[in-house]
Amino acid sequence: MTIANRTAARVLSKGIVEGKYQGRLAFDDMPSTAMIGTFGSDSLITDSVNSMSAYTTGHKTAVNAMGLYVSRATDNLSHPKVETIAELIKRNTKMSVGIVSDAELQDATPGAMVAHTRRRADKQYIADQLLASGAEVILGGGSAYFYPQSTKGSKRKDDQNLVDVFKAKGYQTAFTKQELATSSENKNTTKLFGVFHPDNMDGSLDRLYLKKNTVEQYPNQPDLTQMTQAAIDVLSRNSNGFFLMVEAALIDKFNHPLDWERAAFDTIMLSNAVDLAKNYAKNHPDTLIIVTPDHTHSGSISGVVHDERQGPLREKVGVYAEAGYPNYPSADMQGYPNKIDVSKRLAFFYGSYPDHYETMHPKLDGTFVPAIKDEAGQFIANPKYVQLQEDAIHVGGNLPANQESGVHAADDALLNAQGPGSEKFKGFMDNTQVFKVMVESLGLGSK
Ligand SMILES: [Zn+2]
Repeated sequence: MTIANRTAARVLSKGIVEGKYQGRLAFDDMPSTAMIGTFGSDSLITDSVNSMSAYTTGHKTAVNAMGLYVSRATDNLSHPKVETIAELIKRNTKMSVGIVSDAELQDATPGAMVAHTRRRADKQYIADQLLASGAEVILGGGSAYFYPQSTKGSKRKDDQNLVDVFKAKGYQTAFTKQELATSSENKNTTKLFGVFHPDNMDGSLDRLYLKKNTVEQYPNQPDLTQMTQAAIDVLSRNSNGFFLMVEAALIDKFNHPLDWERAAFDTIMLSNAVDLAKNYAKNHPDTLIIVTPDHTHSGSISGVVHDERQGPLREKVGVYAEAGYPNYPSADMQGYPNKIDVSKRLAFFYGSYPDHYETMHPKLDGTFVPAIKDEAGQFIANPKYVQLQEDAIHVGGNLPANQESGVHAADDALLNAQGPGSEKFKGFMDNTQVFKVMVESLGLGSK
């Protein structure tokens, strides 16, 4: 999540009168803020896994690596391991651990809570580690790695049925939003495993409004807010306390293909999820809440696109006094405008990109696919968008031609926090320092 994702979400969700927002996102008014440096041990540009590893272990690692020091070992699993915060909590306390993501649960962020591999693509191994971790709540996408290879759609290479093992270990299970509600509301549920999509789940713009991408195929996916509340309800039944990691993964997954509207909607969804955590903290003031991206993207807002301005597409971008304000309708109860293809829209552009066609319109037919591979294996602008909209502008990529999407940025990430220990977040901090604040707040720091 980058600063402009937050700005776009606030514009769409809260509205503006005479230059002032009519409200704030849930993390905007937290008392502590810090700029976070996200570099990996080997590179200026982090991927999600080595940045999340820095948060979960307090140590830098390399691109594609989770929970280990990179050595000369040739086997992905033979590098020296570094204990993660989830393992530290399990070893030293009686607290519960929860892992929630709307990506595949084997993806970088949930994986780096529990797993140790040189290659984040070891997804079957990561699924096994989620089971072995003993985390009490595990909710998200990625069901394909929990079923044996004989099951249709399974991506496992063996006959293990992890869902059966979760059940045997006393977990309640949920595979639809209705089952998630039933299982989490049951006062006897203290361990909960739920998977709601074989791959990454769908974002809020598609699930709630457009019904595109895979929503018709998987109509019963819960919202991130529902997974967050279910996790809090189940974990808080442990009187020793809990550690919960919730990832709004799709903000990043929509920034990559330059689909800023979908990223904005999921930033609003993140804000709604943070509101639930703040509600819990109201009655449990010993709760530390940290909201932080693992890295940024290159998006930025330049002005407002006005359909009524004359001339070719680029002339429709109003800047400075010509920008004025967009005309999105007021947000609904959940904080979303119910129309995004309005006549005055944010002019949101990314700084790193493959060849693509700039349409300056929201992609109502599914997530933007800016580039496709040609016969030589190079990514070129996807012609679909100029066929749909003949004034779309061809933009020559500024990344190598083997890149199909935008890339992460080296820019600082913005962290917000509230609760005991949050006062330690200030100024500029390295991502490894976030781990130190968390372990001190949990009483796991050096005695
Ligand atoms: Zn990413």
